[in-house]
Amino acid sequence: MSQPTKYVYGFAEGGRDMAALLGGKGAGLAEMTRLGLPVPPGFTVTTDACKAYLATGEEPPELGVEAARALAGLEQAMGRTLGAPDDPLLVSARSGARFSMPGMMDTILDIGLNDQSVTGLAKASGQERFAWDSYRRLIQMFGHTVMGVDGDLFEQAIAAHTTDDHDLDTAELARLTEEFKAIIRKETGEDFPQDPADQLARAVRAVFDSWNTERARVYRHREHIPEDLGTAVNVQAMVFGNLGNDSGTGVAFTRDPATGERGLYGDYLPDAQGEDVVAGVRDALPLSELKTLDPRAYVELGDHLRTLENHYRDLCDVEFTVERGKLWILQTRVGKRTAEAAFRIAHDLREEQTITADEALVRVDGAELTRLMFPRFDVKATALPLAHGVPASPGAAVGAVVFDSAEAVRRAAAGEKVVLVRRETTPDDLPGMIAAQAVLTSRGGKTSHAAVVARGMGKVCVCGAESLGVDLVARAFTTDSGVVVHEGETVSVDGTAGTVHLGELPLTASDVGRALETGTAADPLTEAVLGALAHADSVRRMEVRANADTPEDAARARSLGAQGIGLCRTEHMFLGERRALVEAMILARDDTAREQALAALLPLQRADFTGILEAMDGLPVTIRLLDPPLHEFLPDRTELAVRLAEAAEPDPRERELLAAVERMHEQNPMLGLRGVRLGLAVPGLMAMQVRAVAEAVTARLRAGGRPRAEIMIPLVGTVEELRLARTETEHVLADVAAETGTAPDCPIGTMIELPRAALTAGRIAESADFFSFGTNDLTQTTWGLSRDDAEASFFPLYLEKGVFAVSPFDSIDQEGVGRLVELAVEAGRAVNPRLETGVCGEHGGDPDSIHFFHRTGLDYVSCSPFRIPAARLEAGRAAL
Ligand code: ADP
Ligand code: MG
Ligand code: MG
Repeated sequence: MSQPTKYVYGFAEGGRDMAALLGGKGAGLAEMTRLGLPVPPGFTVTTDACKAYLATGEEPPELGVEAARALAGLEQAMGRTLGAPDDPLLVSARSGARFSMPGMMDTILDIGLNDQSVTGLAKASGQERFAWDSYRRLIQMFGHTVMGVDGDLFEQAIAAHTTDDHDLDTAELARLTEEFKAIIRKETGEDFPQDPADQLARAVRAVFDSWNTERARVYRHREHIPEDLGTAVNVQAMVFGNLGNDSGTGVAFTRDPATGERGLYGDYLPDAQGEDVVAGVRDALPLSELKTLDPRAYVELGDHLRTLENHYRDLCDVEFTVERGKLWILQTRVGKRTAEAAFRIAHDLREEQTITADEALVRVDGAELTRLMFPRFDVKATALPLAHGVPASPGAAVGAVVFDSAEAVRRAAAGEKVVLVRRETTPDDLPGMIAAQAVLTSRGGKTSHAAVVARGMGKVCVCGAESLGVDLVARAFTTDSGVVVHEGETVSVDGTAGTVHLGELPLTASDVGRALETGTAADPLTEAVLGALAHADSVRRMEVRANADTPEDAARARSLGAQGIGLCRTEHMFLGERRALVEAMILARDDTAREQALAALLPLQRADFTGILEAMDGLPVTIRLLDPPLHEFLPDRTELAVRLAEAAEPDPRERELLAAVERMHEQNPMLGLRGVRLGLAVPGLMAMQVRAVAEAVTARLRAGGRPRAEIMIPLVGTVEELRLARTETEHVLADVAAETGTAPDCPIGTMIELPRAALTAGRIAESADFFSFGTNDLTQTTWGLSRDDAEASFFPLYLEKGVFAVSPFDSIDQEGVGRLVELAVEAGRAVNPRLETGVCGEHGGDPDSIHFFHRTGLDYVSCSPFRIPAARLEAGRAAL
C-alpha cells in the first residue's frame, strides 16, 4: 500500500537531504534544529503541496488538516495562540525553493496581528510603538503581496507623514494603520482580514503563487533552474530584532564570500527586522561591531557558524536575529561566493583537512577560472576614481551609464555595453542587471540585493558608493567633487577595487593569468588556483592540447599547460604577402606556372612549421592541410567586377583574375571545393604542404630537436578520399626520407566532421592513425545549418522558446552530434585499437562538453590557448 503524501513537516522532522521536498531554506532550518541551534520553531509546507496547488488552483484537502495540526503543535510548544488577543503568537510564512532565489519570491512577517492582538502584543512586549509598527508592516506586506495592492500607495501614505519611518510615534503608526486598511478597502473592495488563521492560509497561498511571478521566471531562466520545482513555505514563530538597542538583525558568513578570506564576515543592523538588511534600506554595521554591542551574542554566533561550517564542510551564511540579547538563527545555506572566494575557500578547507583534494577540485570550475583570468584595469594608468564603494563582485567592466532596468535592456539589445546605476536595486531590476556589464549602487553593503545577485551571476558590482548622488529624474549622477555624469556617458567599474572611473580604462593581464603563464604563485589566490590545477593534472585522463598556428601562440599555449597542438590550421599561413603567391598558384595556366608558385611557397611553409615544432618540441603538433575554399584567398567578386567596369583601361591581369573568381564561385562554399577535395583537385598543393612538414621535421631532427608532427586530412567523407590522400602523403614522406637520409615519422589521420565520416568511421579507421573530431563543422553538417547565418537569425528565438537550452555551437549537442562522436570512436577503435582520438572544435574548451568527451573516452581535447587552464581543470573534474 502506498503511503499517503505528507504535505507538512515539523522542523524537527526534516534534514539537509530533503531540499527537493522542503526547499533549501526548510532543509536548512530542519538541519539546524537537529544540530541543536537556536532556531525559532515552525514547520514546512512541502513543494509537493505547492505543485499540487499550482496544477489545480486549489490546495490539496489534506494540507488544511495537516497544517492545522502542525500549527496547534507550534502553539503548544510556544505556549501561545496564533493572533490571540493577549500575548499572541505571530508567525512568518517564508518562501524557499530547492535552489536559492534570493529575494525572488515572497515572505510575509508578523502574521497573526489584528485590531485586538496588536494591543496584546503591546502589553506583552511592553512596547506599544513596536506593536503598532509590526501591525502596519503586516498590513503593508500582506496588502501588497497577498492582496495585490500597489506597494507605492503605502509608501506614499508613509511619505505624507515623514521621510523616515523611524520617526513615527505610536499614535502616528496607529493612524497609518487605519490609512493602510482604507487603501486596501479602496483598492480591493475587501477588508484586511482580521482572522489570524485566514491570514496564514492566504499568506501560504500567496507564497505558492509567487513561484510564478515574472521576476521569479526571469531569474530561473537565467540560472537554469527548472520551472516545475515549486516552492516550499516555512511557517515559523516570529522573533523580533526591532525591540530596541539590545535587539537587532544581521547576515553572517563563515568566511568572506568576496575574497574567501578566513574569519567571520557580515553586516549587523541594531533595532531592525530581517528585511531591512537585505533591502539595504539603512546602512548596516560591520559584523565586528556586534562584538562590542553584545559580546555574548557575538561569541555564540561565532560558535554556531563554526558548527555549521564543520557540518556542511563549506562556506555557510546565516540570517540571524538578536531579540533582547537572545540569539536566533533564521536561515542557513552553503553560501554563494565569487570565483576568487571559491578557489581560496576550497584550497583553505583542504589545508585545514576539512575536505579532500578531490572535493576541493569539485568545488571550483572552469567558468570561474576563466573569469579570474579576465584582464583587469591597469591601475598605474588610472586617474583618480570618480567614487569609491564596496567591492561587491570583482572584475573590470566598461559601459554607458543607464539609470533603469528597461533602458539597460533596450540598449543592451541594440548591442551597447551598459552599466546600471541605481540607488539600490530590487528584484524588479533583475532584467537590467542581467543586461548590464556592471551594477553600481550608492547604497547598501556586501549583502545588499545588488551585491548578492551580481555575485551569483558573476557580474561586476560596486555598491554603497555613498558619495554618488543618483538623480533618476535628471538621469545623471554627481560625485562629491562635483562631476556630473549623464546617461550614455562611459564609465569603467572596477569590482575588485570598488572604484568607478570616468571613461574607458586600459586593461592589463590579471594576477591569475600571469601566474598561470609563469607557474609561480604570488598570493593566496594564485596559490589556490595553481594548487587546484596541479590536482586536476594529477587525476585527469584526457590530455589538453591547443589550437594554435604561430610559434608565439604555441609558446603561450605551452606555458599555460598545453600538451601539444591539436589543431594547427595552415590557412592563416596563406595570407598577407603570400597572397600573391597563392593567387599565382590558383591562376596558373599550366603545370609549370603552378609548380613555380608552389615552389615559392614551400620554404615559407617549411619555416612556419619549423618554428611551431620548435616551440612545441617533444610534444605532438597536428597539422591540418589546407581546408577552406580557395576563393577565400582571391579578391571579392563584386569589388573586382566594379573596379574593372570603372577602369578606363582595364588591366588584362585583373580580367583574368575575375574570370578565375567567377569560375571558382560556389553557391555553398562551405559544402564545396574545400578540405580533402581541394587537396585532391589541385595538383601539387597537398604534396607541397606535406613536403614542408617533412622537411621541417628533418630540419628539427638535425638541430637535435624532438619534432612530433602529425598530418591531418580535413573534411573526409569516405575512406576512398583518405586512401588517396594518404598514398600521396606517404609518397612525399618517402621522397623526403630518401633525399635527407632521415625518415620523418608522421602519423597520418583525419578530421571527422561530416556525418558520413562518423557513420563509416570503421572503414575510415583502416587508413587513419588518428581521428580528430571537428565538432564545429560536424555540428553544422549534422544539424544542416550554417553557424554564421543561424546564430544571428533564429538562434535567439530558439533559445527563448527552449528548442535549445544552449547553442549547440557553445556546448556539444550530446544527443545528436555527440552520438556521432560515440559511434565513430567505438567503430574506429574496433578496427584500430591504437587509434588516437581527440576533439579540436570550439567545444574542446567548454566545460560540459569536456565532461562528455571524457565519458566518451577521447584521448584529448584541443582548444584556444586562453581556455587551456579551464580545460585542464574540467578534464580533472570529469575524471573524479
Ligand atoms: P528571503 O528568502 O527573501 O531572504 P526570508 O524568508 O529569509 O526571505 O525572510 C525575509 C527576512 O525576514 C529575513 O531577513 C528573515 O531573517 C526574516 N524573517 C523571516 N522569518 C522570520 C521570523 N520568524 N522571525 C524573525 N525574522 C524573520
Ligand atoms: Mg532569507
Ligand atoms: Mg572543419
